[in-house]
Amino acid sequence: MQMLTVLGSTGSIGVNTLDVVRLWKDRFAIHSLVAGANVTILAQQILEFRPALAVVADESGRQKLIAELNSLGLAKSDWPQLEFGAAARVLAATDPAVEFVLSAIVGVAGLEATYEAIKLGKRIGLANKEVLVSGGELVMAATRLYGSELLPVDSEHNGAHQCLRAGKRNEAVKLILTASGGPFRKTPKQDLQNVTPAQALNHPTWKMGPRITIDSATLMNKGFEVIEACWLFDFTADEVEVVVHPQSKVHAMVEFNDGSVITQVCATDMRMPIQYALTYPERADAPVPRMRWDEVHQWDFHPPDWDKFPLLGLAYQAIRAGGSAGCTLNAADEIAVESFLNNEIPFPSIAATVAETLSRIPVSHPSSIKELLAVDRHSRAVARELVQAQLAPSR
Ligand code: NDP
Repeated sequence: MQMLTVLGSTGSIGVNTLDVVRLWKDRFAIHSLVAGANVTILAQQILEFRPALAVVADESGRQKLIAELNSLGLAKSDWPQLEFGAAARVLAATDPAVEFVLSAIVGVAGLEATYEAIKLGKRIGLANKEVLVSGGELVMAATRLYGSELLPVDSEHNGAHQCLRAGKRNEAVKLILTASGGPFRKTPKQDLQNVTPAQALNHPTWKMGPRITIDSATLMNKGFEVIEACWLFDFTADEVEVVVHPQSKVHAMVEFNDGSVITQVCATDMRMPIQYALTYPERADAPVPRMRWDEVHQWDFHPPDWDKFPLLGLAYQAIRAGGSAGCTLNAADEIAVESFLNNEIPFPSIAATVAETLSRIPVSHPSSIKELLAVDRHSRAVARELVQAQLAPSR
């Protein structure tokens, strides 16, 4: 029986992960569930999976969780240890009983716990983008030093991981990541000024949390994936290409030195890559829709519109700059996306805020998570100032 910690159990990836665990109760058991504020879902998960530890973001959330567990009538003797905050997240990820950590908190809140689990050589199923986008340099150094295995859950990297199994790493010359193009693929650039959060949240092919959905609409998400891919598979930025593929059936392609391209194809259901990470190197039956080859398929591939979606280019700029540039890119984007969702800034200002923040914060090389988180805070503060400056005239 493999013991798991799920960081972000109440989110889209977390819920899908527990769906996979539900199917494989003879193979996996839950040691810890870590969430933010959604105590209603967390309490239900506790009732079903009976973890030893449950963690929420803050003390008020812990009190609400206690009330929720009381209302469900679960005997106190069956309650898990209930904790809150950053130290408890680390505790959940580093407990000696835990073998596998599914890292699916959104944002930098998941970074430290994942990093500490890596330092203990645990296996990581990696969904949380910030771990590599913000902390790539530190995290990969720790992965090498402590022999931890990072198994990508993000569908594109999961696809790339599968394609790379077709040859030796030094035979792979290029990685191609596909992008759906998001809801504004066909929207003229000048109309982006007036698009609403509701339109941006309407992703054509995937159902995901709000941050990643907006990042998909700006192509920032694809930029993050380029950064993650460079760290995960040791490609240079020049060796990673993005291609728009609106049908989202081909997730990644790897070109080998003999000109052969290996492609990974599957239906859009995150339970496939989650299960792949959990059972690797084995494959197991997955409860996902199958590809139908008796139907007509038309698959399109075309280059991204760099001018309309400048965040993609900024991501390439950040990975080439190295060091803390990815951390600043992510932090500024998180603030800008939040402001867009609050109707404070228009859609094109997300990219403008990120570009300006990047230009104001010099690249450094943090040697610890503490230093990295300081860059993150500084970057957020600058991005917030920039957003405030945009709000000022209308007050
Ligand atoms: P969601 O917004 O659906 O879920 C986020 C999770 O993080 C929730 O469980 C939330 O808890 C938790 N969380 C947020 N803040 C904190 C905190 N301070 N402490 C503890 N937990 C916290 O996001 P997704 O599941 O869509 O995405 C998760 C990560 O995986 C992101 O980094 C995303 O980019 C990445 N990813 C997602 C994919 C997808 O298909 N959804 C695909 C590839 C990558 P609560 O809800 O209780 O507040």
